[in-house]
Amino acid sequence: MSAQIGNLAILGATGSVGTQALSVVRENPGAYSVQVLTARRNLELLIEQAKEFRPALIGVADAASADVVRAALGGAVDIAIGEEGLETAAVHPSVHTVLCAVVGFAGLRPTLAAIKANKHIALANKESLVAGGDLVNRALEKSTSAIVPVDSEHSSVFQCLLSRTCQGQPRRIILTASGGPFLDLSREEVYHAPPERAVRHPRWNMGPKISVDSASLMNKGLEVIEAAKLFNLPGERIEVLIHPETIVHGLAEYDDGTMLAALYQTDMRVPIAFALSYLRSDDPKQRPGTQVTASGASFLDLAKQGSLHFRAPDTERFPALALCYEALDRGGDMPTVLNAANEIAVESYLGVCSSSAICFGQISEVVARVMARREQPKALESVNDIVRADAWAREQASNVIAELAVRQVESRLALT
Ligand code: MG
Repeated sequence: MSAQIGNLAILGATGSVGTQALSVVRENPGAYSVQVLTARRNLELLIEQAKEFRPALIGVADAASADVVRAALGGAVDIAIGEEGLETAAVHPSVHTVLCAVVGFAGLRPTLAAIKANKHIALANKESLVAGGDLVNRALEKSTSAIVPVDSEHSSVFQCLLSRTCQGQPRRIILTASGGPFLDLSREEVYHAPPERAVRHPRWNMGPKISVDSASLMNKGLEVIEAAKLFNLPGERIEVLIHPETIVHGLAEYDDGTMLAALYQTDMRVPIAFALSYLRSDDPKQRPGTQVTASGASFLDLAKQGSLHFRAPDTERFPALALCYEALDRGGDMPTVLNAANEIAVESYLGVCSSSAICFGQISEVVARVMARREQPKALESVNDIVRADAWAREQASNVIAELAVRQVESRLALT
């Protein structure tokens, strides 16, 4: 089968974005056809999805998972395995648009592969742009593939910018942030906040890692880096605005004083549906799709909503945001270093790794120390450069965490 318009690969099909993308597909009978599904975990759900959507190819993590899927589906399906399989899935001949909702760094290679194969991309993987933004942009220059962000803030800014293409670049763009669960806590309370509180996000229902990143505003900082790469803007023209209701997701301001905004319910199906509809064209880079895709989300009732609140973010209580601007400014592999150090620090905070756990405020301290150790950021020429910077930062972060633990023991001994 050829890559007909609307033929989709859903990478990360059993995760939050993946399942919501499939629900958007269900909302629009006849508009989309799921050709590829991949998932690392939750084989049960993957098999269920495969029975419903009948893809030509399924991607799984390992050979054992492949056996389980094959047995359940009666063998009549192609299976791709591991990280390489993810790339095979992204460039499958019958795929027109790839929804990349893979979690973490693993999303970069399939994104680059899809761009090289001139597939269009609905991108829900931050790391592709945070760690590999320069590579992605270079690959896009040589490709006919169009890329549309699925992250809610970026989808909104993308839509704002679309409506003023004749007016050149915006003066600035603004990403909103709910402020997370610690918005009104004191500096001291934030510093020592326990993981149970950090993972309880007031607006979005998300996994623990991204919930912690939202509570620290690291997630918003990573989104600033993502926006810089996506919209080709320097950090000083990207602002963050705390907006607890999260009804306004992104804005663009022009030199004439006009500010454009996109508003919708906090429902990821909205930006997913927009990305899929935009890409539903034979050449979306030149001519975006013209039909609106239904999302299934409820409509906004602003009269009922009544009031919306905005305030500036506080980088004293939430230093992660400032660190992201610094990483963006220093350039090269510094965003990669920041992202990797943060992943290790968050794992430690959540008690995932065996070494001693750090407290919430130390997440940013670990990241800052690792960044300080990278005296000269290196330019990114290849995926291997990213892998190297990522590994270096992870090791440094583990060292810093161990040093912090020693310091803590010492100060406790000094007290007794
Ligand atoms: Mg977001």
